[in-house]
Amino acid sequence: MLVAVANAATLPKKGEPPLTEQTQRSGGPIDPDQAKLRFDSADLSFEVLPDKAQLKGLALLSFTAKAPLDKLVIDLDRNLGPSAVTIDGKPLAKDAYANPEGRLTIKLPRIYATGQHVTAAITFGGTPHVAVKAPWDDGMVWSKTPDGRPWIASTSEGYGCDILWPCLDFPTGEPGKVALHITVPKGLKAPANGVFKGMDTLPDGRTRWNWEVKHPNTYAISLTVAPYEVIEGRYKSRFGNTIPMFYWYLPGEQQQAKALFAEFAPTLDFYEANVGPYPFGDEKVGVVETPHLGMEHQTINAYGNAYKKAPEGFDWLFQHEFGHEWFGNQMTAANWDDYWLHEGYEQYMQPAYGLWREGYARYATMLDKQRNQILNYVPIVRDREVTEEEVYELDKGGPGQDIYNKGSWILHTLRWLIGDKDFWDVTRLEIYGRTDPKPGNFTPRYGSTREYQAFVKQVTGKDYDWFFDVYLRRAALPELIEARSGDKLTLLWLTPDNLPFPMPIDVMVGDKLMKVAMPDGTATIDVPGDARVLVDPFARVLRRSRAVEDYQAGQRKPN
Ligand SMILES: [Zn+2]
Repeated sequence: MLVAVANAATLPKKGEPPLTEQTQRSGGPIDPDQAKLRFDSADLSFEVLPDKAQLKGLALLSFTAKAPLDKLVIDLDRNLGPSAVTIDGKPLAKDAYANPEGRLTIKLPRIYATGQHVTAAITFGGTPHVAVKAPWDDGMVWSKTPDGRPWIASTSEGYGCDILWPCLDFPTGEPGKVALHITVPKGLKAPANGVFKGMDTLPDGRTRWNWEVKHPNTYAISLTVAPYEVIEGRYKSRFGNTIPMFYWYLPGEQQQAKALFAEFAPTLDFYEANVGPYPFGDEKVGVVETPHLGMEHQTINAYGNAYKKAPEGFDWLFQHEFGHEWFGNQMTAANWDDYWLHEGYEQYMQPAYGLWREGYARYATMLDKQRNQILNYVPIVRDREVTEEEVYELDKGGPGQDIYNKGSWILHTLRWLIGDKDFWDVTRLEIYGRTDPKPGNFTPRYGSTREYQAFVKQVTGKDYDWFFDVYLRRAALPELIEARSGDKLTLLWLTPDNLPFPMPIDVMVGDKLMKVAMPDGTATIDVPGDARVLVDPFARVLRRSRAVEDYQAGQRKPN
């Protein structure tokens, strides 16, 4: 009793312990010393101590020098130490390393020449930061199951991997492979990334869960611990391979868990049929129930949508995070500036799945919901190195949710403009670097917006830079001006900075649909004076809508 009281008094609250600016930042311009490192592998041991809300860790990090190295610069929240550092097996004196602000600098005992390998063993641990409202901010979530047992998760997309382990906290800081050894109290399980390498029982009754994953996204490494039960199955892929599937869920939820698991195969089918092979088929499809909404942790997607039903008949949260295995984990944008390639694509994959399952009405309904949320405050792409915060947060000057909703509508318009075949070929180039992906002929890759534009040019044989310059690099949407006079209809595109915008548009005259070319941004067509005329009746083209603006203004007014 006394012990319990003492513990309760010292347990960290939400938002504690505080994080430095450095630790809260993720991405941005890469530190010149970190740019010299090729991150070959990480072997990470965690002891999870729920009673104290603490972690103990040991990280073996292996690097190859891309340029002569006299120090290692590694990101690690200073709340986690380190307490000891060893380089290539030799312990360092305390004054050889320092971590005042969350950027650990280790003075190497000698200079490592280009091409030489160095391994650092970093003993770390302590009280990790507790998230306030994960996954919208990050850290540990120390929760309880309905029957009072530990239910633990971590997220780190926003603040970055350094709030959990010593890492390189920018998108291209992915290690070649990661081994995980997670020790948890008796009776709990620790499903994690990649392939299961067995469980050890320690003399004190705790269990250690061993996993191995190739090319994980930096923020994919996470902890999920609970008295989980598991459903397993196997998916026979159209590409000939068989993929193991797992869902770890809380006891007592078998019925809902089964219903969610039944969505895995058809969702895989959709992505494989339209995009290409599941990127991690030789590891697994993994989903785990978490006490926060969700996150795209590679091969162990976090799911916390409480099995909510939706009129579209599938779980949007599962479908969204799962799609990030392609748009985010297989293809990772090298700079946060290009994260619309993750979130815009994933947002578009929701109506695209609605279309695949039910047809055009569902597609249009789902797209319309997204259309009404597009804000157009800030361009989606700024063509410079930016941090995660400068993208996702409106109050840090970012486009915020526009990388989702506007990104989705840009892709919807592009698909119509270049046609289905070219759209999916461009998508495959973006994801796999090739249009004929098969299991075994691709590995995870980094992407960018400029490269994406080059893929569009390569596939279509045409230059669509005008499309991306207006939609991605300007905040305001193009506006289509219609003027009807007698037997003539004149259409004219108004664009920010008068940028060229030769976007064609569908026009319905009576019961006849025509596609009107507008090579100079304007066109005049003949329409009978008494004909009913509808411009873009299938809403193919993203453009300014005063009705949506008025609606949004009304929504912002206090009641
Ligand atoms: Zn997402």
